[in-house]
Amino acid sequence: MSAESRESAASEPLVLVVEDEPQLVRFLRATLPAHGFRMVEAGTGERGLVEAQTRAPDLVLLDLGLPDLDGVEVVRRIRAWSAMPIVVVSARGQETDKVEALDAGADDYLTKPFGTGELLARMRVALRHSSRVQGSGEPVVEAGGLRIDLGARVVYRDGEEVRLTRTEYRLVAVLAEHAGKVLTHRHLLREVWGPGAASETHYLRVY
Ligand code: CA
Repeated sequence: MSAESRESAASEPLVLVVEDEPQLVRFLRATLPAHGFRMVEAGTGERGLVEAQTRAPDLVLLDLGLPDLDGVEVVRRIRAWSAMPIVVVSARGQETDKVEALDAGADDYLTKPFGTGELLARMRVALRHSSRVQGSGEPVVEAGGLRIDLGARVVYRDGEEVRLTRTEYRLVAVLAEHAGKVLTHRHLLREVWGPGAASETHYLRVY
């Protein structure tokens, strides 16, 4: 293999497939590499979590019905530390699971059986969204057990979305952007409430 083709192979998106159905795995093995994706397989949820951490895939294709863990639980555990795109795959009749998976932080879902065209389109959309977030210069910040998506303005605690008012969000985001540093009251007030509020320290005490 020439240096050039090695480089192009490494730039192909890596897809982690967490799926226990041999038939579907065979289908994906035949489909994904033929359409410019690299693929790594995990037959259980636990294995999937290990691969997600060690291989840092560009996208996760996750079956909801796994032999060991609930797929929704896998979404939660990945979301506790990563914003990598997750597309869940579920059988018909698992509507509640699907909603739960999306609420837990999955990006999209596919209902079995699905065709190659739909699979590839949904994967492309998920990858496009993630590169937009990564390229926006507004990273995901993790601090004190919280994951703060500065692009989407969403805060998660242990993978669960935390509902915050606009001011609460600003306060958390400013603190997270300066994690580990000491911030003065004046600095916080200016950043969150605006330049005119720099001496209104009672605002801070309320929060
Ligand atoms: Ca399954």
